[in-house]
Amino acid sequence: MDAPLVLTTRIDPKEVDKEAHNIDVTARYPVEFYRATQEIKNPTEIESMMDLVSSRLGTPEQYEHFMFTHDTSNIAAGPLNSSYKTLGSMIEKMEAQLSLANRIRAVDAPDVAERVLKSHFLPDLIGNLRSFSRQRMRCIKCGEKFRRPPLTGACPKCGGNVVLTVHEGAVRKYLEISKEIGERYGVSSYTRQRIELLDYDICSLFENHKVKQLGLSDFMSGSAR
Ligand SMILES: [Zn+2]
Repeated sequence: MDAPLVLTTRIDPKEVDKEAHNIDVTARYPVEFYRATQEIKNPTEIESMMDLVSSRLGTPEQYEHFMFTHDTSNIAAGPLNSSYKTLGSMIEKMEAQLSLANRIRAVDAPDVAERVLKSHFLPDLIGNLRSFSRQRMRCIKCGEKFRRPPLTGACPKCGGNVVLTVHEGAVRKYLEISKEIGERYGVSSYTRQRIELLDYDICSLFENHKVKQLGLSDFMSGSAR
């Protein structure tokens, strides 16, 4: 949620967010607007015929006679609950977003996949990997926290079991889905390599490469001179 940085006692339309100045308040769109969409014109070229709030600033019209193109019985009508809340896991949300992207012709689904990977899944993986290695330990009995595991393996206060506070599952959570989506949508090789590197980092941290215990004699066999 956005935290308020400035509180104002008098609202001056000139001072509100610029985005609000881009609202068109015309009752109907002129045919020129539709023609311009066919020519893929730059929106700024037809701004003057669209009756934007920005052109009314400083006049009494900045507060009144705002028109609209579609009537409604209730100005507050709309979805009461967004699918961001009804969908459970992040993976479900991702799948829903991508399936929508696939169905809308104007949306470039591989670009959506790339952006979600870059701005959500990768930072999450990197952040969790970092917090795993910097995590604190916790005693399950008395709740005492430790900056590093006690050498005895037990809580020095009560002798209880000391456990991790960040788990492997939290680090790996989005790894498989990231790999899968990267492949399925053919995201840039740079992004795929970043996922690959993370996969490598995660494996090197968690996989138990059973260390083969060798004795000095193992190096001496054969040519002992
Ligand atoms: Zn304890």
